[in-house]
Amino acid sequence: MKTYGHFIDGRTVPGKETIAVVNPSDGTVVAQIARGGAAEIDAAVRAGEAALDGEWGRVEALQRGRMLMRLAALIQRDAERLARIESEDVGKPVSQARTDVTMCARYFEYYGGAADKVHGETIPSQNGVSVMTFYEPHGVTGHIIPWNYPLQIMGRSVGGALAMGNAVVLKPAEDTSMSSLAIAELTLEAGFPAGSFNVVTGLGEEAGAALTSHPGIGHISFTGSPEVGTLVQAAAARNTIPVTLELGGKSPQIVFADADLADAGTVITRSIVQNAGQTCSAGSRVLIEESIYDRFTADLAQRFAAQRVGSAAQDLDLGPVVNAQQKERIEGFLAMARRDGLQILAEGSFGTNLPPGGFYVKPTLIGNVPPDHALAQEEIFGPVLVAIKVRDEAEALRVANGTPYGLAAGVWTADLGRALRLSRKIRSGQVFVNNFGAGGGIELPFGGVKRSGHGREKGFEALYGFAALKTIAIKHGV
Ligand code: NAD
Repeated sequence: MKTYGHFIDGRTVPGKETIAVVNPSDGTVVAQIARGGAAEIDAAVRAGEAALDGEWGRVEALQRGRMLMRLAALIQRDAERLARIESEDVGKPVSQARTDVTMCARYFEYYGGAADKVHGETIPSQNGVSVMTFYEPHGVTGHIIPWNYPLQIMGRSVGGALAMGNAVVLKPAEDTSMSSLAIAELTLEAGFPAGSFNVVTGLGEEAGAALTSHPGIGHISFTGSPEVGTLVQAAAARNTIPVTLELGGKSPQIVFADADLADAGTVITRSIVQNAGQTCSAGSRVLIEESIYDRFTADLAQRFAAQRVGSAAQDLDLGPVVNAQQKERIEGFLAMARRDGLQILAEGSFGTNLPPGGFYVKPTLIGNVPPDHALAQEEIFGPVLVAIKVRDEAEALRVANGTPYGLAAGVWTADLGRALRLSRKIRSGQVFVNNFGAGGGIELPFGGVKRSGHGREKGFEALYGFAALKTIAIKHGV
């Protein structure tokens, strides 16, 4: 069984203690990762500082971009190996893991292309004074990522930071660290100098907390739960550093009678069952106009009933969820639905020869859920879609905005006036009209409002977050 170390200053550093890596498809232990803490985080931050003072700090933007592009090409070269690692670690059907590898490579390619295109401006000021601005790296940036899309979220978070010339320290989720370590090794082959890319594995309250409170960190990018996001922001406040928080969601999909219902049904089902519903931007509430409620929920029910759950290797519609706690959490919500007399409209099925010991749950569609019920308010983070009946546009808007979250939303209608009105009034970071991009769209700025967080990742916009703007004013006389 393989034992992984940390990746610090371009070398593998064995852990003093380890954490077992469990395969969600059958519950077996497949590897061990290092359990790091304050000492390893400190070593990684110092390696980042040394890289910035040394070779990495001297690499010009064009060359940083080329390194990122080389990394993208290496990820594509090793796509099948990386997809197998991700699939075994997260429990993803292997074809979904292949998509994640492609997306991860795409982030490095995109930010590689952008590295030499972020430039400042000159500002008219007093006569005899010339003013210019520069986007400079924060220094060493900290990146804490969750377990649902380790490769994708790693790519989007560190890709932009490296493009802007920061040195990164990444703390992947304890359940799913193997793919981050595999990418770390590829950074050497891509030509990144030692210390520019560091990975410390371990528990959130140990390695994660040590990273957020380290005085050498210039920026924190955190993707995870609102509860931990609050702790991360508090830690960043103590060091007075900027923080990007990509937190949870309860994203609404609003479907009107004039929409292309077949298209809406396909996309809405896919957006909640992909990755077994463990997608922050999953459309997990469907708000349906009264006149088509019965017809549309009947269509969704058929689609849910056709979904099959299997192991990652069986590569069916859904794999297991990531761990036993996650399975328990989702089952708790389903038990609550039954106890409160909500309508279970449809369930998917388990495929044949499901390995015993895996963390499997059936995709479930629940109907006529009151908008203020816990199932319509809280992030379940599983393949559970709640359907809510709405009278008209005004009620749809009220319900859409009526949760603490604001990450993404979908509006399905042929009336473009209505689509635009709603898009402007829905409080969320993204709105999709007649399509929905859960998890995708690397070019599109992404992030939340309200409890879904703040700051933007993805797209060109993210680059500004990974830089500090400096203004230089030179008095030279007239
Ligand atoms: P989590 O908050 O439990 O863990 C996320 C990361 O934070 C892990 O690496 C964990 O080790 C670390 N962590 C835990 N405690 C910490 C602490 N005290 N200090 C520092 N780091 C700590 O989240 P999760 O269960 O891994 O992921 C699920 C959550 O992530 C959901 O709420 C989901 O919506 C959210 N998420 C958001 C996005 C987004 O882009 N908005 C994307 C994916 C997941």
